[in-house]
Amino acid sequence: MRFERPTGLMFHHFHGQDHPQTQGSISGNTFESILEFISQDHRILKAKDWLDRAKAGSLERQDVCVTFDDTLACQYDVALPVLEKLDLTGFWFVYTSILEGGLEPLEIFRYFRTTCFETVDQFYERFFELSNEFLLEAYCTAEYRFEHASYLAHASYYSRNDRWFRYLRDNVLTSKSYRSIIELMMKEKRFSIDVARDKLWLTSSQVKHLSQSDHVVGLHSHTHPTTLAELPFAEQKTEYELNSDSLNALLGCRPDTVSHPCNSYNCQTLAILDSLGVQIGFRANRLSVENRSELEYAREDHANILPLL
Ligand SMILES: [Zn+2]
Repeated sequence: MRFERPTGLMFHHFHGQDHPQTQGSISGNTFESILEFISQDHRILKAKDWLDRAKAGSLERQDVCVTFDDTLACQYDVALPVLEKLDLTGFWFVYTSILEGGLEPLEIFRYFRTTCFETVDQFYERFFELSNEFLLEAYCTAEYRFEHASYLAHASYYSRNDRWFRYLRDNVLTSKSYRSIIELMMKEKRFSIDVARDKLWLTSSQVKHLSQSDHVVGLHSHTHPTTLAELPFAEQKTEYELNSDSLNALLGCRPDTVSHPCNSYNCQTLAILDSLGVQIGFRANRLSVENRSELEYAREDHANILPLL
């Protein structure tokens, strides 16, 4: 595997220590193997080094950096020791609502669906049943329109059910109805949100520690909408202003990097980020982009590298 341009490696979930294996999670050993594999053909830079070179326009084709999205405690507990062992640092893209006592359903729901069902397909089965009951005719229409081969085609590791679930969640159900369905399922399983939240996210002091240990902490919106680009300008602006203000209050400086949650952004988003002093940003895939800006560096999802090890 050789990237044609400077690329970030994108990581989300890890298992090990107290963190259960969930869909798509990897162990610390696998993380280390991925970095070893990539370093055969690339130069893995420390985050600050990457950032300085990106700003100076001196990154080279083979330059790679390590990035973590979503403020997850498993990244800190499992991946950070591996980075320290290899004398590397990473980018940590932090959504901030959860540092301020908020509850971000996206991650809670994911934790629920991967820990309370024997297989994720059992979760999907019940979710599709309830969605069907809820949507009635609209469910059949969506099924007819849905093209599983082309929907989220860049994420080749998604199963048909993964795609159909995301399609329903992001394109058919309203966020309120999606939430009601999941809450009903949580009740059925007697799932405790409070127990889950304590395990899932980084604390403010951990984010601070990362920033003080030469890692780079960047923006990832405040509440992590899954389709941010579809929000009106004012809401997008609030998402990133709150995110930047919150990290500024915690770290004493405004982040100048971003990764786009669920790769969702448009030219308005880029203008907002620019006005907040953000200089370098990452997408969530390696697709070619016309007139790629400094806020649109490519990233490769670790799941696309795994089969090559
Ligand atoms: Zn994210």
